[in-house]
Order: sequence, then C-alpha cells, then structure tokens
Amino acid sequence: MDRFAPFFVAVKMARPDADIAILGGGCAGLSLARRLATSPVEDSVVVLEPRETYTDDRSWCFWAGLTHANSHLVAHVWPRWRFSTQSGGSATHERAGLCYQYVRSLDFYDDAREQIGRHAGVHLETGTRAQSVSKLANQYRIETDQGALSANAVIDTRPLPPDSPALLYQCFLGAEITHPRMRPEDAEIAGLMEAMASDADGFNFLYVLPLAPGRALIEVTRFAKRRIDPKALNDQLTAEIGRLHGSETEVIRTEAGVLPMGLTHSVPQPAGPQHVFAGLPGGALRQASGYAFQRIQTWADKCATSIASGHGVIGHPPEPKIRALMDRIFLHALRAHPERGADFFMAMAKRLSPDAFVRFMSDAATVGDKMNIVTALPPVPFLKAAWATLRAREVAA
Ligand SMILES: Cc1cc2nc3c(=O)[nH]c(=O)nc-3n(C[C@H](O)[C@H](O)[C@H](O)COP(=O)(O)OP(=O)(O)OC[C@H]3O[C@@H](n4cnc5c(N)ncnc54)[C@H](O)[C@@H]3O)c2cc1C
Repeated sequence: MDRFAPFFVAVKMARPDADIAILGGGCAGLSLARRLATSPVEDSVVVLEPRETYTDDRSWCFWAGLTHANSHLVAHVWPRWRFSTQSGGSATHERAGLCYQYVRSLDFYDDAREQIGRHAGVHLETGTRAQSVSKLANQYRIETDQGALSANAVIDTRPLPPDSPALLYQCFLGAEITHPRMRPEDAEIAGLMEAMASDADGFNFLYVLPLAPGRALIEVTRFAKRRIDPKALNDQLTAEIGRLHGSETEVIRTEAGVLPMGLTHSVPQPAGPQHVFAGLPGGALRQASGYAFQRIQTWADKCATSIASGHGVIGHPPEPKIRALMDRIFLHALRAHPERGADFFMAMAKRLSPDAFVRFMSDAATVGDKMNIVTALPPVPFLKAAWATLRAREVAA
C-alpha cells in the first residue's frame, strides 16, 4: 500500500497530494516547515526525510545580538572570539552586544518537530527518501522509495552529491569532550581558528568551543583541494585531544562534515518554475566561510512570507557579484597558497574591527569593510587569484 495513503491520494488526480513538498527535513527543510506551521498559510505541506530518528549530529554557530527569533534555542554564547597561529600570533575580537552563538542541532530539530506537530496541514514524513522530481501539466511528481506523490510546488534541499567539484573542501571532524584542559579565562572565548598552520594536505586549524565547565567541542578543520580521508581526520583529532587535553577526556558525541567551497559545476536544474532548490544545493553556503545557518533562516522567513502572500515558493537570492567575486578570489588564493592561509586570516582578523568582521561574515559588509579587506591582504597572491578567477569566468559578468 502506498505509504502516503493517509493524506495523499493517487497522483493521477487533478488535486495534488500536497500544495508544497519539501524534500529533506534538515536545517533548510525544517526551518521553512516550522515557519509555515506558525504562519497563517493554509497550504498543505509535506516534508520528506529519509531519517527515522534525529540525533545531535551537528551544531550551528553564528553571530547575533542576544535577542532574535532563535534565541530560545541558543545553548551557549561567547562574548569574544579568537584567531591564533601555530607560530604564536593571535587576535581576539569582542564587541558589546554581539556574541558568537551556538545552537545544538537536536534542540533545533525537536523545536521544529514540535511546531510542525501542532499544525494539521504540515506533515513530516520520516523514513522517506525522494528519488526524482518531474513536471506534470500543472503539478510536480515526486518519486520516493515509499511511492509517488504530487505537489503544486517543490522545495528541494536534498544534499549535493558528495563528489561535487569545488575549489576547496572544508573537511572537519569534531568531538564534544569532557574534562578539557582550559584556562578559566578561555571559557568566554570561542576559538574560531586556533593554531592555524599548513601541511602537505593544505591549510588547517582547530575550532575550540568551551561549552560548560568540564565540556568543550574540539574540531580539526582542513581547507584542502581534495576531500580528506576521514581516518586521517580522526587520527589528527585523537592526537590533538590527547596533546591538549590529556587522556582523561571522554568523547560525548562527534560531528563531521565536508563542505564544498566554491562549487565549480553548474547548480542542479529545476524541473519547472515552482521547483526550487534551498539549503546547500540552493546556494545557502557562504563560499568562503562555510557558514549557512543564518542565511537559511533569512531565506525561510522570506519564502514563508512569499507563500503566505500568494507569490509561491522562492529559492535563495543570487549572491551579489562583488561578494561572489571576493569570495572566489579568496578561495583561489588559499588554494594556491595554503602555506599563507594563516597570514591571510590573521591579516583580516587584525585589520577588521570586530563589527566589520561580523558584518563581513554575516553578508553585511560595507564598501569600507571591503576596501579594508582588499588592502589588508598581500597583493601578489591576490592579484594572481583575481586573474585566475576572471580567466575561469567563474562569476557571471
Ligand atoms: C557538522 C556540520 C556543522 C556545521 N556547522 C555550521 C555552523 O556552525 N554554522 C553555519 O552557519 N553552518 C554550519 N554548517 C553548514 C550548514 O549550516 C549545514 O550543513 C546545514 O545543515 C545545511 O542545511 P541543509 O538543509 O542544506 O542540509 P541538511 O541540514 O544536511 O539537510 C538535508 C536533509 O536532506 C535529507 N536527505 C538526504 N537525501 C534525501 C533524499 N533523497 N530525499 C529527501 N531528503 C533527503 C537529509 O537526511 C537531511 O536531513 C555545518 C555543517 C555541518 C555538516
């Protein structure tokens, strides 16, 4: 029997099974679904998600003031954030009223599921993998491993193929550990890019988040031309934990990711105008940083508003040309000179004020911020990188 029978009828009928089908119940899919569930929208919405159960598989960090729409989900904030190099340089940022904030994915998933559960028209179908989307006359047909369904509009957040070609891959493995050895004064500092260095595999650093007395998240992160073997990352993480925190630590949970930075292939093609991509396949990831959470929240708000006002589903806005160009030049420079990665990031950390740095990371850099970044970075590798970017015609004119 068709798994969707309780609320979906046969796809051949003129009336679709759902007004909106969201493929993928991760960050983007659930962000939109929970907004729709708490808005006056009357459309029927189904989220298709292969997972049967949600775990604390990642943490989302971002900069924000203390009060915002997701404040209730924030598990920790740090008033300061630090950059340091293996060779001893460091820069610490602090700005009153602005914090680096941490949301546990499981808190986010639970909150979204609770809100979705309260709305009769929004359903989360776990254990369901979408396979393909095709356009019928006025609807879309979605094939899944549990049967087919139809919808008037499709939001597609299925992950990009793992082998998506990119300028660099941000590969990371982190562990939340007990009994980290930390100085009391470090408890209020998020170690954004600690011990920056480079080796044969590229540029690397540690991400260190003190979460509570006796608990921290330690992550080894690499920007490399190729995906790093998970075992190599695991060996490095184990060694770093042993070296920095001793043998008494216990691992509570781990999280890992491979984020393609600066995609070099064309984005997936929609089956029609009401089939849009969102989340990472929709361009949510900031090319040069790998941050996406806040961009996804902004998109989810706008998309829900567009649906509520009868304008249909929308994807992420196109990246502004100057930002896209600067990000790609940065990635080209880092790709060509991983050994200078620490210099590049330290130059930015030292030249930009904390405000300007956060504006840059949060897509709100001013013209002055951009000028400061350009003048802070060493000209020769960046002029070469600019030439490589323009020659590859990577940013549409
Ligand atoms: C470990 C980790 C930590 C991160 N930390 C940060 C951070 O601190 N700050 C930040 O801004 N960004 C961070 N990111 C980047 C980004 O915010 C996340 O990757 C975010 O989860 C992207 O949202 P998404 O919805 O595109 O993808 P996901 O959240 O991965 O959701 C995709 C969903 O699609 C489902 N799916 C897979 N195949 C199918 C299918 N065939 N049919 C239907 N559904 C399918 C998956 O199960 C998943 O639930 C992090 C990424 C990772 C991996």
